Amino acid sequence: MKIQKPEDLTKVKTHGSQLLVPATVRITVGAATCGCAKGALKVIEALKHELKKQKVKADVVMVGCNGMCFAEPIVEVIKAGKPRITYGHVSVDRVADVVKSVKTGKVIEDLALLRYDEDKPAVCQEPLLYARGKVTAGYAKIKEYKKLDFFNKQLKLVSRNAGTISPERIEEYIARGGYAALAKALSNMTPQDVIDEVKASKLRGRGGAGFPTGIKWEACRTASGERKYVVCNGSEGDPEIAMHRSFLESDPHVVIEGMVLAGFAVGAQEGFIYLNDRYTLAYERVTAAIKQAEQIGLLGERIMGSPFSFTVKVKRGGGAYICGEETALLNALEGSFGEPRPRPPFPVQKGLFGMPTVVNNLETLANIPLIVLHGGKWFAKIGTSSSTGTKIVSLSGSVAQRCWVEIPMGTSVETIVTTFGKTNPKKVKAFQTGGPSGGILPAKALKVKLDYDALAKQGTLLGSGGLLVMDESTDMVDMARFFLDFFAEESCGKCVPCREGVKRLQEIVATFLDGRGTKEHLEVVKRMNEGMRDASFCALGKTAAAPLLSVMQHFPRELEKRMAQN
Ligand code: SF4
Repeated sequence: MKIQKPEDLTKVKTHGSQLLVPATVRITVGAATCGCAKGALKVIEALKHELKKQKVKADVVMVGCNGMCFAEPIVEVIKAGKPRITYGHVSVDRVADVVKSVKTGKVIEDLALLRYDEDKPAVCQEPLLYARGKVTAGYAKIKEYKKLDFFNKQLKLVSRNAGTISPERIEEYIARGGYAALAKALSNMTPQDVIDEVKASKLRGRGGAGFPTGIKWEACRTASGERKYVVCNGSEGDPEIAMHRSFLESDPHVVIEGMVLAGFAVGAQEGFIYLNDRYTLAYERVTAAIKQAEQIGLLGERIMGSPFSFTVKVKRGGGAYICGEETALLNALEGSFGEPRPRPPFPVQKGLFGMPTVVNNLETLANIPLIVLHGGKWFAKIGTSSSTGTKIVSLSGSVAQRCWVEIPMGTSVETIVTTFGKTNPKKVKAFQTGGPSGGILPAKALKVKLDYDALAKQGTLLGSGGLLVMDESTDMVDMARFFLDFFAEESCGKCVPCREGVKRLQEIVATFLDGRGTKEHLEVVKRMNEGMRDASFCALGKTAAAPLLSVMQHFPRELEKRMAQN
């Protein structure tokens, strides 16, 4: 059906709710890239086959990732009025057990990961029963309740649908409140109202710099230009991070809705999502989602019968780290070489094709629908006073559970590592936030809170949310070399301080790795850092020495040991 007025959303919502909790049974399989890599597609095939064989009726649905990448393939069994049961590490040879459990109502204890109180009304009536250790009629008691912490200690706002809805069914997104914010904005708000709510939320850009989103939008709204654009930065070039990918593979509509609201607020009619070329599945799912939104009148001409029109297109780039920088991204979108532009003029004044453009990180845009729906003041109460809302964090490195989680701003790094990474903080030697440009901090700083200002005080960044943990086996000098090699590979070469400076830093680290380093070398690093920081054209060159400087500051013994070998 075509949505011709905001009220029409209700009809789609009813259909979506029936898909989420069907009269029979819904069995979901996590099939984002992480799930597919662990065999999710074979599990889906096996499930369909086994359901037929055991004569069980169920809707098998491909969903995205709920953050538990370590437990894929994840299978969930949803029956109206029953607790939702989550199984992890489901191999093809356990599929027959899953289908049997649907028939008997008995939980397979060795596969169950348990569930949390995420979505009481929509998916099941008694989701807390297992959390409280009670037994529901017909279900066996599950002993290990601690694992629930994985969800209980998160605040899943932006990622509320990931791993729950099908990214290929717009009705399921709508059933969980999707596009209600857009309906509210188009029927009851002016563009300035939307900007005011975003300003009141104190939302800061999730891409690293932390610039206030509402101020950026207002600057674009007041800039003059025949056309305006909204650009979603889904570039994500940091090593070991794939949050944007996972996001688009799991819930593409929340990003699309955020973009339409941004377009409405700033006066743009066209939006572009810039994606890393390696993200094939994310590209397919977001492209399909755009088509669905167009078909039912949530994108294109006169959205929901209002005078407002907006289109979204997806552009794929080569995955260069520098294209995370907004002006380099704009160059790449225009088909030019992905290198930064001089600022001013800023993109909000003169951006894509010389027109006023808002460039927002993908996670920033995904926050917008909830802000519009519940108000900026509601959002501003979450997190800390200067870093409001939640943050998605990708946890990798020396941790027992590699995963991504959504936590309120202000959560300590230690909580993330212990609660979600299931790693003893005593085994942590160092950690890095903010990707390659962030500093490496020693374990004694684990209590630092994840917010823009607390991390800046420690000399590092929040960045786009990567958290890399290193244990005692990590050679910190080698780690510095890894990041310098990364910068050398990713430097666009436009300016000399970065192009030549990174090479020189690589040579210096190599002298330490060969046991030829000297104190004079370290003095040279300090002087070079000053020069690169002051004279490099963009943040890549300005911060390229950060990992090596962190090692000098926090792990000087490791460098001294290399000198002693002389
Ligand atoms: Fe390019 Fe490096 Fe200069 Fe940035 S600092 S413009 S990445 S050469």
